[in-house]
Amino acid sequence: MQTITSISEMQSLTERLRTQGQRVGLVPTMGALHEGHLSLVKIARKNVDVVVVSVFVNPTQFGPSEDFTKYPRVLEADLAACETAGVDYVFAPDAEEVYPKGYSTYVVEEHIAKPLEGASRPAHFRGVTTVVAKLFNIVRPHCAVFGQKDAQQVAVITKMNADLNFGVEIIIAPTLRESDGLAMSSRNRYLTNTQRVEALVLNQALRKAVEMVTSGERRVDRLIAEATHLIGQHRRVRIIYVSIVDRLTMEAVKGEITPGKAVMAIAAWVDEVRLIDNEIL
Ligand code: AMP
Repeated sequence: MQTITSISEMQSLTERLRTQGQRVGLVPTMGALHEGHLSLVKIARKNVDVVVVSVFVNPTQFGPSEDFTKYPRVLEADLAACETAGVDYVFAPDAEEVYPKGYSTYVVEEHIAKPLEGASRPAHFRGVTTVVAKLFNIVRPHCAVFGQKDAQQVAVITKMNADLNFGVEIIIAPTLRESDGLAMSSRNRYLTNTQRVEALVLNQALRKAVEMVTSGERRVDRLIAEATHLIGQHRRVRIIYVSIVDRLTMEAVKGEITPGKAVMAIAAWVDEVRLIDNEIL
């Protein structure tokens, strides 16, 4: 495994691989890798000859009062995990390499990015689409793997990829969870034991909604009311949103859901830790 920090080196490497007829897969991450990230690597491995994992804590997707400076940075451990997982190249540029002084071009998806995360983190998706567009241009992958854990991110990137004709095959990986149901996340490191127990209610609320749909419930208001009620019983947990949206457009579903097409998405503060989770209904 090789670690690359320079954009030009990464570009010439993948250009060479492409001319040799090798298929290249990209797994974009912000590091602090866990089993969820590594499950994306496994999926990439099955689909391509050469797997590139990018590790980059992207400053442009954090708001001014968000956790950019305290976001966990553990590159040595990430490199070891990638090596074990059979990654071929880790692309780990620094912020100046990606956004040199005077940088002024951004990619904005104007529709899917607006609700949910977009409403409470206004500049977030502009940063995500910008960095993913740059990564697509730098790595020129045949396919890229993203997690359903970030359902709106997947929808926004799929749209950007189509609108801007990147021609990258977007593969969506299921959410990996701890044995008690908590969705794996780099931000789980911030949780104390007590907060972690409280955080489980996000998954419990989603599971309840899935159960209700399995038993025939279709009404959006009933599903949201039940999930909200469950979460409301937890003192440390404050709901940012509990929404049922179309899984492709992220538009709110009105009235009744069509099973398989809707996603229940939840964002909540557990004390000062912001967590998101979702399930397809
Ligand atoms: P991040 O490092 O948080 O930006 O995540 C990098 C990629 O890993 C994104 O495509 C995420 O959706 C995905 N990911 C994060 N957590 C999980 C998880 N628990 N299961 C599957 N994929 C995940």
